[in-house]
Amino acid sequence: GSPEQVTRIDDLPVRDELRGRSPYGAPQLDVPVRLNTNENPYPLPDALVERITERVREAARQLNRYPDRDAVELRTALAAYLTRTGKHPVTLANVWAANGSNEVIQQLLQTFGGPGRTALGFEPSYSMHPLISRGTGTRWIDGPRRDDFTLDEADATRAVTEHRPDVVFITTPNNPTGNAVPADTVRALYEAAQDAKPSMVVADEAYVEFSHGDSLLPLLEGRPHLVVSRTMSKAFGAAGLRLGYLAADPAVVDAVQLVRLPYHLSAVTQATALAALEHTDTLLKYVDQLKSERDRLVTELRALDYEVTVSDANFVQFGRFDGDGGPHAVWQRILDRGVLVRDNGVPGRLRVTVGTPEENDAFLDAVREVKKELS
Ligand code: PMP
Repeated sequence: GSPEQVTRIDDLPVRDELRGRSPYGAPQLDVPVRLNTNENPYPLPDALVERITERVREAARQLNRYPDRDAVELRTALAAYLTRTGKHPVTLANVWAANGSNEVIQQLLQTFGGPGRTALGFEPSYSMHPLISRGTGTRWIDGPRRDDFTLDEADATRAVTEHRPDVVFITTPNNPTGNAVPADTVRALYEAAQDAKPSMVVADEAYVEFSHGDSLLPLLEGRPHLVVSRTMSKAFGAAGLRLGYLAADPAVVDAVQLVRLPYHLSAVTQATALAALEHTDTLLKYVDQLKSERDRLVTELRALDYEVTVSDANFVQFGRFDGDGGPHAVWQRILDRGVLVRDNGVPGRLRVTVGTPEENDAFLDAVREVKKELS
């Protein structure tokens, strides 16, 4: 709030679980090189911008009407994309879409979590999983992760068996650490989650297009309580669009419709997403470029003697910054050189999003200077 503000959040009769909490708040700073929110650095190509304009113009003529509540054309196009790239056939009935995968996750928690229920994830992971849990009255449980940020299958399944959560989150590739979870571990966690209750398992694959490995989509076969969550914010370079989606058993798609707001996906959003999907091949070429830049960043940071977590995503976690005032002081020094990276609160580590080759060079130069300064 502003300095002259007299009434504070905690003066309001807010729900108990929101007292003393902070909102999601990655800094949106105006600096030359912004590598802090895992966005795609490439603006959409001109031909796609044209196509969006055309599709949105068409949609604008009908804005007096509510949009297609079931987003049938869009979900069909998303199903085709998943079928083509995911090594598993997916149809309209398996797919649901919402305003960003954050909204998908919120709808899942409204459906399968809620007061008296629990959700479990393995931290450090995507900070919105616990935040959306809290927002939906779902109690959050932090599961174990090894010191190298991988999941120990035995420890992880034991946590599920012990806590019997209603929803299990597996972020793969994981944010902010970058590493993917092997399919065998996901299988084991799913089994543990079914023995325990049964409960829903949500695989958050926001970054899967950047992975060296495959999507978990084939695991949907015979697993009606598994949900794979995806987004157009990263690989499709469309964070501003706000389009997330899921693939699951048709019953899950039916169930989330009990909580979705009617007409939640605007006609403009649906038109824009459809245009972007028409340009999938072009957009995926940028993904290839980003993957090789990601691998270059890993190599160069290791050459600078940093500890770098294996990355299957469009970002890289590096450290360690245990002295020198910790990661936040180093974050500030890098920022002083015009490069914004992310301090996710992981002890001794920072995270950098893969940018264009020029941005990555600027980042590496800044890191080299800071390293020299501190040595
Ligand atoms: N899941 C993960 C793991 C993420 O990192 C993000 C974005 N930072 C999201 C979901 C949400 O993305 P969006 O709402 O833009 O689809």
